[in-house]
Amino acid sequence: MDTLAAYKEHLRDIGKLGSALSLLHWDQRTQLPNGGQETRAEVVGKLTKMVFELSIADELGRYLEELEKREGLSEEERASMRVVGKAYRRNKAIPPDFYERFAIAASKAETTWEKAKERSDFLLFRPHLEEMVEYARQFAEYYGYEESPYDALIEEYEPGMTSRELRAVIEPLRQELVPFIKRLQEEGTPPETDFLRGTFSKEEQRSLSLQALRAIGYDFDAGRLDLAVHPFTISIGPGDVRVTTRFLVDDPLSGLFSSLHEGGHALYDQGIAPKLRWTGLDEGASYGIHESQSRMWENLVGRSLPFWDFFQPIFVETFPAFSGVPAETLYRAANVVNPSLIRVEADEVTYNLHIMLRFELEEGLITGKIAAGDLPDLWRDAMDRYLGVVPEKDADGVLQDVHWSSGLFGYFPSYMLGNLYSSQIFACAQKEIPDLDAHSTRGDFAPLLTWLRERVHRFGMIYEPKDLVKRITGENPDSSYFVRYIEEKYSQIYKL
Ligand code: ZN
Ligand code: ZN
Repeated sequence: MDTLAAYKEHLRDIGKLGSALSLLHWDQRTQLPNGGQETRAEVVGKLTKMVFELSIADELGRYLEELEKREGLSEEERASMRVVGKAYRRNKAIPPDFYERFAIAASKAETTWEKAKERSDFLLFRPHLEEMVEYARQFAEYYGYEESPYDALIEEYEPGMTSRELRAVIEPLRQELVPFIKRLQEEGTPPETDFLRGTFSKEEQRSLSLQALRAIGYDFDAGRLDLAVHPFTISIGPGDVRVTTRFLVDDPLSGLFSSLHEGGHALYDQGIAPKLRWTGLDEGASYGIHESQSRMWENLVGRSLPFWDFFQPIFVETFPAFSGVPAETLYRAANVVNPSLIRVEADEVTYNLHIMLRFELEEGLITGKIAAGDLPDLWRDAMDRYLGVVPEKDADGVLQDVHWSSGLFGYFPSYMLGNLYSSQIFACAQKEIPDLDAHSTRGDFAPLLTWLRERVHRFGMIYEPKDLVKRITGENPDSSYFVRYIEEKYSQIYKL
């Protein structure tokens, strides 16, 4: 067989096993009875190992070596080799027995973290955190880096990003956001929300989510909506991209926005060009770009006035208790700013500050400037400076996120980058699509989705995030779009 054909066949094998793994993951988090968890873990472990072995197989190394010298390959074939080759070299750099020790330690750290969070006992978690930091630093050494070991870790989630660049984005952003949030609180008029109190059946909330997902163009012929404690979206393969959500009986909006968020992730995956299937390119360009799509549909669309002009009648029909409540009142209520302790409950104004804090701490841990034992104090101090709220117990502070216990360092910034990219990309869409708001007011989101398909979705991983943003918008990534969006929108809502 020709080397190129053999290379592609190898990737298809990885893709098919990956598809089976995704389905097992989806089942595990939505359907699987408790009694089946243990065996399932073994099955997933076995399949994961098979995929990993294929990803570092000697023959794959030979294909890459030969093909990287070959002329006349298509842009997609080159991109595939860039992505697959990088994963190959990174995976190959990790000694298998080191990886196995890490996986066992991470599983113990996660279990202990759960207990420590329950009891709000940081000291219980501390030795495991120290161990996870040690592993992460070792991973960085194996992967290699130019300036900071943190760069080797963030590369996994946001290719091409460095801690130096992140700091350059974060510093000015913080200088704008911290005083703006203070002004909102001290001088602003908060939106009315009392009218949202009540009990709202999950069946009706589900019907609301289904209507919202249909409206934005999620294809139910190529997906489905299920419940999960921690909502997620998973691509089983082309033609099968599933979303999950969760509903709170005392909050009619939370589940709706969770569905729109996951719907945004799903629109991205549903829009990746079918020809990229199983080429190593059939995923989002990065975690940050993926998050830009979920945030866009959740916040820039779902929390906008045009959306509520369209959605108000549907909302009122589902919950007649709200009849007579104008669209604008619902829109304002969906945009309350509330500096709080918990990241996953944060609004779009304060969210990035939660991420900045985590970035600064985890970068310090990886470079050795910060010791794990100092984290609770540093956390409280930063929360006070950034958001003016201080956790009384570590469960609401340094112990709140699962990421570090699973050895995920360098992951958090993608949430912030998603927010930044989303407003920059949306600003471009508004410039280029005539009457975008008027379409949204009528519940017609096809012009936006078509534009996103054309500019973002179909490319999958062909371009690295920075290049993609530049292709989409004609500009380098620029956080001032986010600042402008936030200041304009919330000055109006809070009547500054
Ligand atoms: Zn997985
Ligand atoms: Zn997301």
